[in-house]
Amino acid sequence: MDDLREQIELLESSDNLSASINDVQKAIDLLVAARAKIAADPQTAPLTLAKLHDPLKKTMEVAQKDLKPIYSGLNKYSRALDKKFKDKPLPAAENDALSSHPQLINRAIAMHLLREGQFSVASTFIDEANRNPPRPEPTPGTPNPYLQEACSKDAMHGTFNSEKLQSQFSEMYHILHELRQQRNLGPAIEWARDRSGVLEARGSNLEFELCRLKFVCLFVGRDEGGAITESEDGPLRAWAYARSEFAPFQNRYSRDIQKLIGAMAFWPNVQDSPYRRYFYNDSAWEEVAASFTREFCSLLGLSADSPLYIAATAGAIALPTLLKLQNIMKEKRTEWTTQNELPVEIPLPPSYHFHSIFVCPVSKEQSTDQNPPMMMPCGHVIAQESLNKLSKGARFKCPYCPGESHPRDAKKVFL
Ligand SMILES: [Zn+2]
Repeated sequence: MDDLREQIELLESSDNLSASINDVQKAIDLLVAARAKIAADPQTAPLTLAKLHDPLKKTMEVAQKDLKPIYSGLNKYSRALDKKFKDKPLPAAENDALSSHPQLINRAIAMHLLREGQFSVASTFIDEANRNPPRPEPTPGTPNPYLQEACSKDAMHGTFNSEKLQSQFSEMYHILHELRQQRNLGPAIEWARDRSGVLEARGSNLEFELCRLKFVCLFVGRDEGGAITESEDGPLRAWAYARSEFAPFQNRYSRDIQKLIGAMAFWPNVQDSPYRRYFYNDSAWEEVAASFTREFCSLLGLSADSPLYIAATAGAIALPTLLKLQNIMKEKRTEWTTQNELPVEIPLPPSYHFHSIFVCPVSKEQSTDQNPPMMMPCGHVIAQESLNKLSKGARFKCPYCPGESHPRDAKKVFL
């Protein structure tokens, strides 16, 4: 892999097109100047053209010469690629499920670009895709594209409101920029506060996480905008912030708030106190940024990571196994007949496991929206109906540990 990286660095640093672009620009400048001269005084045309001949020829020759290292660089790179992947051909696309839904693929690409904040690339892509609509090619074993044409059309033209999505994502990127680059929690806190009810219903801790970080910032001496101040009254300002802002969190986060307030007693040397990890946590900003992205996307009805990215990564992980499978099938001359199912297991990392289900350990039933999993304060989880039966509305003992609790202390678990 080092070979490839070396070649890419070489291509990026020396063998790039910047010299050739300059050469061509010079030629254009010469031509434009000549045109202006002739337009101003048509009499001079023969002379101007004659004078133009040599410099133009020279510039074009230089441009050709500058292209040479690029060709040789590209050749070297493709040789390095061939060398690296010589035993690893891509699997043949006999079952090309993608070609029957080009509109949906385009939509996924456009969504990915919007989600990555590549707004201008996304709008160019959508324009070009609309101008040259791809032709679906039916593939055996996949749903007929024509049945779903209306939905595919919608996908690119009607309901796919890229401007609305773009403005929503630009809000997200603005808030993330303020968080990551400016260390300014203001816009994120404002966003979370406006959606306090929805976030709490989802069981999200985002608003409190942001306010806690704000407290920590004030404590260690940052001002409202996130800039570091010289003043010594950080703990006092943090105290004032806690008094004015923490009241709504009192019920849900009393333990966390106690810890923050407890740290006040150590204000001259929090560094050496048991509270150190709350105040000097380098990853805190990245954690709230990730938590914010997750909540923002889920309120839009989207997952935190781009589905296209997840699909491509899962595909890359699966590729070696699929290649091996293809070889084995070729050797044994067997056919893979089940189109919607792979004959081998593809081990994916836990974050790539979706559609988690919960089976209640008491009733052995799978949870539903009407009968959701509930976590008791001891940390054990059972289904709502089992909880009701066991507790009969009063304090009860957990079936799995000695912990006792009241059913109202149980929290709904979101999978
Ligand atoms: Zn328990």
